[in-house]
Amino acid sequence: MKKTGYSKAAVVGRDCRGIRPALEAHGFEIVGKKPDFVVSFGGDGTLLYAERAFPGAPKLRVRANRSCISCGAKGKKAQWQYFPTIAHYDRARQFRCLNCLPPVLEKIRDGRASIVEEPKIHAILFTQTGRKRKEFTALNEVQVHNEHVSAIRFAVSVGSRLVAEHASGDGAIVATPFGSTGYFNAVTRRVFSKGFAIAFNNPTRPRHAIYLPNLRPPVKITVLERDGVLVADNDAENPSLRHGDYVIVSEAKEKARLIRTA
Ligand SMILES: [Zn+2]
Repeated sequence: MKKTGYSKAAVVGRDCRGIRPALEAHGFEIVGKKPDFVVSFGGDGTLLYAERAFPGAPKLRVRANRSCISCGAKGKKAQWQYFPTIAHYDRARQFRCLNCLPPVLEKIRDGRASIVEEPKIHAILFTQTGRKRKEFTALNEVQVHNEHVSAIRFAVSVGSRLVAEHASGDGAIVATPFGSTGYFNAVTRRVFSKGFAIAFNNPTRPRHAIYLPNLRPPVKITVLERDGVLVADNDAENPSLRHGDYVIVSEAKEKARLIRTA
């Protein structure tokens, strides 16, 4: 059987010095462009950044100087970690630390590592007149969020169905299954494993607190009153949404590819 082992790695993270020797010791060439795979050296936020920097390239999740679920290493601070759901635990187990990384690097080099594909979200921001302004791709979630403290008022359609004519609150979130253990879970306390879901963020009227799992995109969110911003994962670029502006959210053509380590 032909081996499809990788040889070129890119590294993304705040301080990559710790990871480079481990990669070089396993014969990987560290590159800045066209890597075979990308090491995300940090936490969940680093992974989102790595996916934007190298969309679609397989990602390996490695944590520095932290307690490690994979090998049981104890960090300086955390004695134990709390996981609200099994999904949170499973996600944490996909991170390796520098101690338990070598066997995974050998698998990647020798073509024995398996890759999981995760769907991503594509969001297009339109002006009131229907002019396309900006496009984003997200791994975790896309939100329309109020720009200032006062509640934003907005409408939501799923396909041709108007599901909320006049909602108000802090906005709406459309999340992927992968993202459902992230910010989406902080807002809804829910996790899901299939399709996409939309939830309203801190709605001013309880009856607006809808949560639609397994929804079929496209989802359209239209700003009716007050200003909003479009937030895609932890992207620092958050364009403003004025009255009448709208966002169409659908499934992205490309998928994220994550290297399984557990
Ligand atoms: Zn470890």
